[in-house]
Amino acid sequence: MSELVRRWREQGLSIGLVPTMGALHEGHASLIRRARRGNDRVVVSIFVNPAQFGPGEDYARYPRALSRDLALCRRCGADAVYHPGVSQVYPEGFSTAVQVSGLSERLEGKFRPGHFRGVATVVLKLLETTRPERAYFGEKDYQQLTLVRRMASDLDLGVAIVGCPTARQPDGLALSSRNAYLSPRERALAPAIHAALVAARGLARGGASPKAVERRARARILASIPQARVDYVELVDARTLRPAERARGRLRLLAAVWLGKTRLIDNIPVFN
Ligand code: AMP
Repeated sequence: MSELVRRWREQGLSIGLVPTMGALHEGHASLIRRARRGNDRVVVSIFVNPAQFGPGEDYARYPRALSRDLALCRRCGADAVYHPGVSQVYPEGFSTAVQVSGLSERLEGKFRPGHFRGVATVVLKLLETTRPERAYFGEKDYQQLTLVRRMASDLDLGVAIVGCPTARQPDGLALSSRNAYLSPRERALAPAIHAALVAARGLARGGASPKAVERRARARILASIPQARVDYVELVDARTLRPAERARGRLRLLAAVWLGKTRLIDNIPVFN
């Protein structure tokens, strides 16, 4: 991979990177197409990163579908797919980690300790290997996008981090590789998460307090999906991800919800 991108760079070609964990869907496809429009060469990485899964999380059962993924990459115009093995990314003796303080500990970080250290470390390695001008991340994982932006800026990586809107099913459910875990019944209930965020956003726009907005979203999720478990619903500053003090300015409403054994995350922008 390094050799290939070195040759491209020598020819003056710009490179766009789309990092993924595979089991690709239309959300990933939208990132690849966006990268295709903005760069001479597009690399998609497919790596299920063990370092970002906690003990007891779904690393072993995370969906893997390489041949379908390769077909999707080709269809969307990718020039190369980087699919390293675990021992290539983390050879014997590997002992370095990237910690983005503050941002790593909020929201997802509270429920998935160590997750963002794994994300930041692997993203830095992928950027080093592929040396792109631009790297594409989905707003679906809004905290991840914010943290990668912070890392790229703090470490002077010289790569533009491009955020891309969340692709959804017609009923509002955000596309996710983990949706494959849902039973038909859970799948039918899952759009209630997005619907609750949208309804609560209406309250925020009407000037309700952040706490009232969060309470409304949580109550609406539980009313629609009584068996759901809500890890968090939080209205935060869109840049710092600190809790919003009032429903003013550029905010983001984020949620993480368990449906049975599946943990889903979603978020929407709130401008006031
Ligand atoms: P993943 O393979 O789930 O780690 O995701 C790889 C990239 O695709 C990340 O930047 C995600 O934010 C992005 N992504 C995942 N789902 C969606 C979606 N529904 N819409 C847009 N981007 C997404």
